[in-house]
Amino acid sequence: MSNLDAKPAPTTCGGERSTGPVRDLLAARRVPLGESTVVRRLLPSLGRRMVGAWCFVDHYGPDDIADEPGMQVPPHPHMGLQTVSWLHEGEVLHRDSLGSLQTVRPRELGLMTSGRAISHSEESPRPHARYLHGAQLWVALPDAHRHRAPAFEHHPDLPTVTAPGLTATVILGTLDGTTSPGTTHTPLVGADLTLTAGTTLDLPLDPDFEHAVLTMSGALTVDSVPLTPGSMLYLGTDRPHLPLYAPTDATFLLLGGEPFPEKLVMWWNFIGRSGEEILQARTDWETGTRFGEVHGYDGARLHAPALPDIPLKARGRER
Ligand code: MN
Repeated sequence: MSNLDAKPAPTTCGGERSTGPVRDLLAARRVPLGESTVVRRLLPSLGRRMVGAWCFVDHYGPDDIADEPGMQVPPHPHMGLQTVSWLHEGEVLHRDSLGSLQTVRPRELGLMTSGRAISHSEESPRPHARYLHGAQLWVALPDAHRHRAPAFEHHPDLPTVTAPGLTATVILGTLDGTTSPGTTHTPLVGADLTLTAGTTLDLPLDPDFEHAVLTMSGALTVDSVPLTPGSMLYLGTDRPHLPLYAPTDATFLLLGGEPFPEKLVMWWNFIGRSGEEILQARTDWETGTRFGEVHGYDGARLHAPALPDIPLKARGRER
């Protein structure tokens, strides 16, 4: 998915230090995505920009799209990141400049590694399921891997971790010793957890990671903090386990990783290390070079928005 903000603000992030265990509730920002979709943006937010290498989190739906086109995100570029398409309901048809053409279904991993440059489109196929519900996640690539060749992976059968009342699908990285086949470039975890009503559980975590929880459906209590769908709780580091309680059937995402040590610049659909890199990427997309071409999408490609007046500089913790 693309950041479709007409005037995207530059975001500087990274260079975070360990926080210890905290409980910071992140407020979602409602952002229109195309004609018919509104998403709830959890990252970056005012108070927090990254969780490990996870640097962008949109939650959308469940939306009834029976009589609507659904998701229609025209071809657009990416640089310096991985995108994770993650669905609970519906399906998304992915096309990219490598020639990939892939339908991604609920609890299947569609993982696109942009490396130095890729472009893609995402659309609800025709016909499509009535409901669309999912999350769009980005992972920042570390400096040693951000110039690599682009790639797309589809993993329809992900490993699971189970316990009484719990089924966890490991999307990326490792949870409780179980590792996703998706390619990662920093130590992290992304998992989709389902708890049945009444379940109480201590979920084992890597204490070196910082973590956050995003509720997808139902009611969930995380370390005594009640969460409703679309809300995200940042949990900090140094947690060997996480106390969970589900008063109703509940589904949620667990995102975590080693605090990202590098400073970086996020603007529109690009992640770089300097304003000059972002400007060059924007120019290359607008002039039709470097990012390749997406074939088969019924519509025009996206244009990059105007650059902001303020300089795009990589900074650390300072806001
Ligand atoms: Mn995208």
